[in-house]
Amino acid sequence: LDVIAEVEPAVAGAIRGELADQRASLKLIASENYASPAVLLTMGTWLSDKYAEGTIGHRFYAGCQNIDTVERLAADHATALFGAQHAYVQPHSGIDANLVAFWGILAQRVEAPALAAAGARHVNDLSEDDWERLRRAFGEQRALGMSLDAGGHLTHGFRPNISGKMFHQRSYGTDPNTGLLDYAALRDMAREFRPLVLIAGYSAYPRRINFAIMREIADEVGATLMVDMAHFAGLVAGKVFTGEHDPIPYAHVTTTTTHKSLRGPRGGMVLCQREFADSIDRGCPMVLGGPLGHVMAAKAVALAEARRPAFADYAQAVADNAIALADGLLRRGARLVTGGTDNHLVLLDVTPYGLTGRQAESALLDAGIVTNRNSIPRDPNGAWYTSGVRIGTPALTTRGFGPAEFDRVAELIVGVLSATSPGAGADGRPSPARFELPENVADKTRAAAAEL
Ligand code: PLP
Repeated sequence: LDVIAEVEPAVAGAIRGELADQRASLKLIASENYASPAVLLTMGTWLSDKYAEGTIGHRFYAGCQNIDTVERLAADHATALFGAQHAYVQPHSGIDANLVAFWGILAQRVEAPALAAAGARHVNDLSEDDWERLRRAFGEQRALGMSLDAGGHLTHGFRPNISGKMFHQRSYGTDPNTGLLDYAALRDMAREFRPLVLIAGYSAYPRRINFAIMREIADEVGATLMVDMAHFAGLVAGKVFTGEHDPIPYAHVTTTTTHKSLRGPRGGMVLCQREFADSIDRGCPMVLGGPLGHVMAAKAVALAEARRPAFADYAQAVADNAIALADGLLRRGARLVTGGTDNHLVLLDVTPYGLTGRQAESALLDAGIVTNRNSIPRDPNGAWYTSGVRIGTPALTTRGFGPAEFDRVAELIVGVLSATSPGAGADGRPSPARFELPENVADKTRAAAAEL
């Protein structure tokens, strides 16, 4: 840090500050983790300096032999770890991985047949009329994904996101009574809508998905099944999700981030069946800029870590701890969406405490507990203030927390929320963002959190 401080002390200060904050608080954001020193150190290396557009052994720049080495290692670890036929490890993030996947599916299912019909090998060889027809065909494709308030992700076809502009989109929700995915309703919707892409995966759904049923539905309507396992990749890697809960054998294309439950560097990855490999590999330069050699190297290190037996123990502990957390909350009267969990997160409905998600998130933060507000199904407070708090176990499990510690975490959370009341804005009127939490409760909770 001294080397950094000599150039820009404020950056060194922020790095120290982040470490101190992470040590002093309980990190319960379901999408965060603690990467290992080996992963972190790999990112701060000279591999960052190299340009390497293209893919392994097929680059637009000279001198890429070391990038070839790390990209090959990362891809080989990924295919071995997940049992996938092909891995593309260049995406800079989960969103980029989804864009590469959408592009690959469109290239395979829309562009390739259009080229074949026109007797052309490349889009540049198409006549102006054929090119116009192809561009129109791109704009006519449909995607079906999980709704945002049921736990889907913005990149699954929602209007504000680029995916919503690429596709005509519809979304499936969850059963209003149970909060669980309703496969029969989804099947009916797919039959009627006939999407090119059926998207499965979530950011805030606290349950496993049956990918065998998803594939059956996709096959029935001629859709490509794309699974976004960004949140639960660690549970797949650690063989907690097996059989019909493991997406790899069922999905044509699977995307993920590498930094959530998988515990690697920030980044993304696409795993796919062989038939999609060439289209997916064109991610750079058709969708992505030059790959990040230092991050691909760190992905190789993280994936090597995830292939060790200790990672399977970690993944099982993540799931066991989520159950301990859910039980601890339920025992203390909390209301959970779907009534519990069988993955790495719980979604706490905070309306019984008279709070919005925003108020609950802020009160917990004041008490040293870091979560994020989240919509619940049919949320009365909308996507900004929300009515829920999403709580995940991957990070604190890395710190060594077990069921007893997570029960104590549940006690602290319920203690804070029960002591919090909604507050008023500067104009004296009730505000969905303001809250009041007695200082002694915040202080006591922070002290208890630091002790854990
Ligand atoms: N997909 C899912 C399901 C996610 O939950 C997220 C991030 O939260 C992403 C994709 C995007 O990941 P990134 O932030 O790395 O772009």
